Amino acid sequence: MLVSQILKAKPTDGVITIAPGSTLSDAAALLSEKRIGAVVVSGDGASVDGILSERDIVRELGQRGPACMSDTVDSVMTRNVYGCKPDDSADLILQTMTAKRFRHIPVMDGTRMIALISIGDVVAARLSELQLEKDALTGMIMGY
Ligand code: AMP
Repeated sequence: MLVSQILKAKPTDGVITIAPGSTLSDAAALLSEKRIGAVVVSGDGASVDGILSERDIVRELGQRGPACMSDTVDSVMTRNVYGCKPDDSADLILQTMTAKRFRHIPVMDGTRMIALISIGDVVAARLSELQLEKDALTGMIMGY
């Protein structure tokens, strides 16, 4: 299975980003409103300046307390962002997420982000593929 197949199951109404200079408080409100776990920090809505996940906010809160919430996202985000391409294998992405211990990967078309996939998207797509394989094998055995 390829990343492009995972994207078919996702809404195509653009990727949620947050502008550099926004505060952690803004980011927490966005994550909560959109019910997502991470957001890409982008000046133009397509290039990836960094990524900020709920874990980054919790880490700052745990280390520095609520005062951190007025810090900017760019001072806390991860700058070295691992991205993937639509023709990358989903299994490879899953292995990378597991090995590097993050749950989100931007999908890139050159320097433009076209989607953000989560480990949940990858697992759901693999489970649906396994179900199809199971149904096909059951059909062969039972003679459907
Ligand atoms: P997550 O598991 O996605 O909530 O993120 C865990 C940590 O990894 C946080 O510090 C994120 O900023 C960072 N992170 C998330 N996604 C990526 C990525 N694709 N590349 C590099 N770091 C990431």
